[in-house]
Amino acid sequence: MAKKFSKKAPVASTPRVDLPAKSAKPKGSAKTKDRVLITGAAGFLGSHLCDRFLKEGYHVIGMDNLITGSLKNIEHLFHREDFEFYHHDVSKFVHVPGELKYILHFASPASPIDYEKIPIQTLKVGSLGTHNLLGLARVKKARILVASTSEVYGDPKVHPQNESYWGHVNPVGKRSMYDEAKRFQEAITMAYHHYHGLETRMVRIFNTYGPRMRLNDGRVVPAFMGQALRGEDLTIFGKGDQTRSFCYVDDLIEGIYRLLLSNYAGPVNVGNPKEITIKQFAEEILKLTGTKQKLIYKPLPSDDPMQRQPDITLAKKLLKWEPKVDRAEGMRRTYAYFKGLTKKELNEKEHFSFEKYARK
Ligand code: UDP
Repeated sequence: MAKKFSKKAPVASTPRVDLPAKSAKPKGSAKTKDRVLITGAAGFLGSHLCDRFLKEGYHVIGMDNLITGSLKNIEHLFHREDFEFYHHDVSKFVHVPGELKYILHFASPASPIDYEKIPIQTLKVGSLGTHNLLGLARVKKARILVASTSEVYGDPKVHPQNESYWGHVNPVGKRSMYDEAKRFQEAITMAYHHYHGLETRMVRIFNTYGPRMRLNDGRVVPAFMGQALRGEDLTIFGKGDQTRSFCYVDDLIEGIYRLLLSNYAGPVNVGNPKEITIKQFAEEILKLTGTKQKLIYKPLPSDDPMQRQPDITLAKKLLKWEPKVDRAEGMRRTYAYFKGLTKKELNEKEHFSFEKYARK
């Protein structure tokens, strides 16, 4: 087993994407940078994490299998000396040459329609992928932070949700491939912490929005923005009386950064507690975008949680963190991003290549 991780092991299993040639290292440069591996680097949150860690002075190694992620989210980094990218599926053995200080595991389909389309990959990345990265963290003596989710609470019977609530999840329901993979992820991460003494961190992420969300991932923010921009009616699932609490991406990234540097191994909720019904939210989007479209109603998908609001008492105390960007400001920034998409991008029905992977 140890042999597999030896420095002599072939790198072929994790092919490096050919990036444009880089200029030679400046002579007499400062000490070698600490290296961080970010999985899911081409996704919404992963790409923002890459930006943040580069800004903090780390050497960032991004990894993604590009099923739901897009290189467009990180193409602005390709010229950098302190960034490299591996096109790799972390459900398979992961090898990264050299030292690693931190690993952030953010690879996973994350929207209900994505994980319903690619259920096996979703289960594998949360379970096998997490196992591989925990193994890598041990070998590298790295601290690992895993991305968990409010979905571990399922359709909660406790409101707002705090970390001591065990949740209400249907193990064979429509969201089970995601919810149970993430619950397994938490369990195996805890086991590595207790059994191997690995330094682990766990963030339970609540609904987050911002630039670089995939337009057609089915989640409510890009769905409503795309509909408004295309002049379509906004689709409300159910009566729209279900609630969510939306956190702007910059706030979330700040919380994650602080959690990584903290000394707390248990799960921590990071999200914005401002709760709103989906109908109210749709009305806000109509106002923001100035569209004349109507709200139309579609059936509520099964196992769609009726309410969700993070209790962030722990994050406030532990991380001295709370969200700063209010929804009006965050939505303005997000709308500016979606408005910047080309007409072609706006009208593309699907832009991820799951078919290619679905039969594997
Ligand atoms: N939703 C909606 N219309 C849409 C997309 C989503 O009413 O076009 C609802 C969905 O049923 C859910 C809420 O918006 O109750 C948030 O959905 P999302 O997929 O963003 O994430 P979830 O919090 O359910 O994981």
